[in-house]
Amino acid sequence: NVRNLEKSYNSGSKKLTVLHDISFDIEEKETFSIVGPSGSGKTTLLGLCAGLDRPDSGSIELCGTELGHLSEDERAVLRNRKVGFVFQDFQLLPTLTALENVAVPLELQGAKNASEVGKELLTKVGLGGRFDHYPSQLSGGEQQRVAVARAFSNRPSILFADEPTGNLDAETGEKVIKLLFELNKEAGTTLVIVTHDLDLARMTQRILRLKGGKIIEAHEQH
Ligand code: ATP
Repeated sequence: NVRNLEKSYNSGSKKLTVLHDISFDIEEKETFSIVGPSGSGKTTLLGLCAGLDRPDSGSIELCGTELGHLSEDERAVLRNRKVGFVFQDFQLLPTLTALENVAVPLELQGAKNASEVGKELLTKVGLGGRFDHYPSQLSGGEQQRVAVARAFSNRPSILFADEPTGNLDAETGEKVIKLLFELNKEAGTTLVIVTHDLDLARMTQRILRLKGGKIIEAHEQH
């Protein structure tokens, strides 16, 4: 539940307000997309919703918890337990293999079967033959699929995906989309997707359209 969100960045001596009075709700288990032109504030909004950054004002309640009431550590714990995030630029750790990128975060959270889960997920995203490759040895699309596998690994209640198909060819993109929607159907994971792909947006139950940091349309589809 997002209420009256404002966010600005300081660039040099200038203050750039990128989100203005944003309010909306996402229901549990819903599929939801955020669309809008480049620079309209989509990535910023996604990061705030996932608790990766803080707004200047306004409130965000994520999985029943008001993020503004939490310390940095408490937000990290909530993210580890409940949230998956697929970054636009993947953010894989370059010194870890594909498998380690998925399994190590799970191990750090105390999982005993991290390696098995990692192998299963990488196989699911079509990277069964790439466990030991480092990110620099993978194509952009393959790195993106590792990022998707990692985001699924903690069985999140809500998955935020920033342009999850942006770097993929049509066939691989469809595989990733299928996987995201399967997760929604089978595990009830809420899906929040930032995308420029209107076909993908139309597959979600609701679309939020941003322009210049403002909501210009909130549209229920089915
Ligand atoms: P795209 O579709 O191109 O990814 P977007 O809609 O996701 O764009 P954001 O990445 O949220 O847009 O950026 C919104 C605005 O905020 C842009 O004008 C950008 O230049 C600015 N911006 C983003 N991050 C920062 C930052 N860390 N410091 C200063 N300005 C920033």
